[in-house]
Amino acid sequence: MLVPSDAFPDDAFLADAFLADAFQLVPSNQPTADHVRDSILQAPGFGTHFSDHMAYIRWTLRRGWHAHGVRPYGPLTLDPAAAVLHYGQEIFEGIKAYRHADGSVWTFRPEKNAERFRKSARRLALPELSDDDFIGALKALLAQDHAWVPTPVDESDECSLYLRPFMIASEAFLGVRPSHEVDFYVIASPAAAYFKGGVEPVSIWLSRHYQRAAPGGTGFAKCGGNYAASLAAQKQAEEQGCSQVAFLDAAEHRWIEELGGMNLFFVFSDGRLVTPRLTDTILEGVTRDSVLTLAREDGLTPQERPISLDEWREGAASGDITEVFACGTAAVITPVSELVTEDERIRLSAGGDNAVAKRLRKKLLDLQYGRCEDTRGWLTRLV
Ligand SMILES: *Cc1c(COP(=O)(O)O)cnc(C)c1O
Repeated sequence: MLVPSDAFPDDAFLADAFLADAFQLVPSNQPTADHVRDSILQAPGFGTHFSDHMAYIRWTLRRGWHAHGVRPYGPLTLDPAAAVLHYGQEIFEGIKAYRHADGSVWTFRPEKNAERFRKSARRLALPELSDDDFIGALKALLAQDHAWVPTPVDESDECSLYLRPFMIASEAFLGVRPSHEVDFYVIASPAAAYFKGGVEPVSIWLSRHYQRAAPGGTGFAKCGGNYAASLAAQKQAEEQGCSQVAFLDAAEHRWIEELGGMNLFFVFSDGRLVTPRLTDTILEGVTRDSVLTLAREDGLTPQERPISLDEWREGAASGDITEVFACGTAAVITPVSELVTEDERIRLSAGGDNAVAKRLRKKLLDLQYGRCEDTRGWLTRLV
């Protein structure tokens, strides 16, 4: 059910919107022409076009967070000695803005992303940003660039404005210690569905040689370094005709952890829905958490526990495992058709219709696009 538009603006929304006032606006003097933006929004692709502005907050050791602003999107000026360029002290987030049928714009569980951003910050010895600043930056940017949020033409149209908050160590200093100067930005990129095939099942490459994360490392943090380390494996995957990489645990090379940028789920014939238990080598996905909640209501029995490569192989052969799917903000829920390794292809003998993945996917999208009631307060209005 859609919230009627005459319910807005309510007091809570106005009070929240006031936050955005703390962000000083420097408007772009070369905003994209309406007809150019409209043609971009017709077929935005993923991550190639950017809106006219970016939100910004600066941090220094002496002043803390300050200089909140929204300024024209454009190249950054960094000293060549900036710490991020040498030691990779950087973290990021990924979250979307969805346009509802009444034209309003909403985002999904942003306090979870804000909390995770602080966890990532602690691990990378970066300063922590409050919920108010994190969500305030999204609101301030959207107040300016809301026309960049595409309007879905129908229920199968998964367009959105992808928001990319990130934080970099910008102090010019080649010594090795946490930076005393840090910049936080949010940029926005209109997006169509992440995988071109939509809900087409994908093949996954099992990385046996490269690890993504080790105990005590940065696996649970959303940092650029994890992605840099995964690219060699990603290249191998593409050579094998696979679109993503699955990683095993670094200690025993036995337990399934996750993909390079998505969490994994296994559907069993008796209704169990298994996902690897969170450790410091697995990134805590907001989609993963939402799927666990929605699955319980759907009559499934979620289990967070270790699952081994052997269990995947045997379950796939016996028919105990009927579906495997990956999930994350960018691609929502994507069925996995097979796991390709150096010496075998693990395909499911049973199932094939991916009914559970499709059902959960629809539930999630209906919520995000305002097509069903948000009983848990998971949506935050941005515009
Ligand atoms: C971002 C990410 C995910 C998915 O997290 P969501 O919050 O669901 O988007 C999963 N794994 C890794 C490694 C990630 O970086």
